[in-house]
Amino acid sequence: MDGTHKVETPKEEIAAILATQRASYIAEGFVSAAVRKDRLKRALTCLLDYKDDYIRLISEDFGNRSAETTLFADVVASAGALKDAIKHVEKWMRPSKRSLQFPLGLLGAKAEVVPQPKGVVGLITPWNFPLTMVFVPLAQMLAAGNRVVIKPSEHTPRTSAFFKEVFSKHFGEEEIAVVNGAVETSQAFSSQPWDHLMFTGAPVVGKLIMRAASENLTPVTLELGGKSPVVVGDSADMDRMVERVATFKHMNAGQICLAPDYLNIKRDKRDEFVDRYTQKVSAMYPSMLANDQYTSIISARHRERLEGYIEDAREKGADVRIINPAEEDFAGQNQANKLPSALILDPTDDMKVMQEEIFGPILPVRTYEKVEDVIDYINDRPRPLALYYFGQDKAEEGEVLSRTTSGGVTVNDVLWHGAHENLPFGGVGNSGMGHYHGYDGFLEFSHQKSVLRHPKMSIGGVLGIVPPYTDKLRKNVERQLK
Ligand code: NAD
Repeated sequence: MDGTHKVETPKEEIAAILATQRASYIAEGFVSAAVRKDRLKRALTCLLDYKDDYIRLISEDFGNRSAETTLFADVVASAGALKDAIKHVEKWMRPSKRSLQFPLGLLGAKAEVVPQPKGVVGLITPWNFPLTMVFVPLAQMLAAGNRVVIKPSEHTPRTSAFFKEVFSKHFGEEEIAVVNGAVETSQAFSSQPWDHLMFTGAPVVGKLIMRAASENLTPVTLELGGKSPVVVGDSADMDRMVERVATFKHMNAGQICLAPDYLNIKRDKRDEFVDRYTQKVSAMYPSMLANDQYTSIISARHRERLEGYIEDAREKGADVRIINPAEEDFAGQNQANKLPSALILDPTDDMKVMQEEIFGPILPVRTYEKVEDVIDYINDRPRPLALYYFGQDKAEEGEVLSRTTSGGVTVNDVLWHGAHENLPFGGVGNSGMGHYHGYDGFLEFSHQKSVLRHPKMSIGGVLGIVPPYTDKLRKNVERQLK
């Protein structure tokens, strides 16, 4: 892959960082709210003080990436998560009282659940949102009182190298460390005995990560991808739907885990959809190659993968419509790896574009007669990260939502459920396991420790379980089984 980080970090070096962090974590003892807030604020400095550098480096890593995308989808999203954690960490840390079964509460026993840091957490991130994928989970990991070692993506080598420089200026390596490298480093990284390991990336790699983590019984959070469908009901407002789908099919050139992957629409609405979508995309991007707002595909390999989907669909009989408003010459292009927008009409299941996560500005459009057929189609496939329903028909909405399982849902828009700190974010089945964002992330990266305090009075004596057993125990058992 072009521009990839070539230098690997040896396993021993990663193991040494983990050992240093664990020793420091244990020596620290209770991690106060003040310490957590200080770390969160320093992480915010690592983001905001260098935002112009990130904008430049991410664009260089991508070939071209609009400054607006980096500001909106990386800097703002990351700052939001860090500020949310700073604001709520004290409340999140509070132990919660629990009631006890009769008669323990009456006898003076007390119970609570105390969230405790997991310890040292490993974080492996992808390239598509280089800042968000690091800073958002980091916010909740630090709020939970953990130490963190980050392995950013090798496909954004300039940004990942800069992370190491920036974090080492504001954090000791025993608090936060950055380890750079590619697959070899990732493999060495995932085989370490972390107290928790979070991985964001492709499902196929997620399986390897979970396998490596299982050797150490390290708990994992896996944020994976998949094919997130759009279901357009008959009652949907066409213009609104077109604008929303087109916006996120092209933001970051569709390289978003939550991007609408393929669309399902009633057969008699298809042609109207194609016209309006084409017009909308052309209005959004009157030119693409010569437009800084139109983002590149991350590498030549990924651009070729996407071009391959189009070729394969064409060969297998799909009606392919390329949307290239300024009729630019993409074939003879530059190093920027840009790809024009495309619609694939009447795709069939044997086409690659219907089998693999697209991660690019290509939209297959399936048609249906009955919405039940779409529900069956979705249920026959791996559970997606997201599902999007457009329409005003509450009964139909209820059917689609209750009869399908996805990580999350946005109704009458796409992607937005993943942008709120107070909604748990995560996949299900093939799209991942575990949740983060806000309080749910705090819980994910904490250990929920049960603490029970017994009174002076012998509970065992009261219940009759101290030998020798007598009628007292039998009567107690009978009472409990009534
Ligand atoms: P990727 O799985 O190729 O890489 C992610 C990370 O895994 C990188 O740091 C990489 O070094 C490491 N890695 C790659 N191969 C490995 C191996 N064999 N063993 C161990 N580690 C390995 O993913 P990507 O191409 O960077 O990102 C695209 C994928 O990420 C898409 O599937 C997308 O849906 C998913 N994604 C999911 C979310 C989410 O929140 N659910 C967010 C962004 C991206």
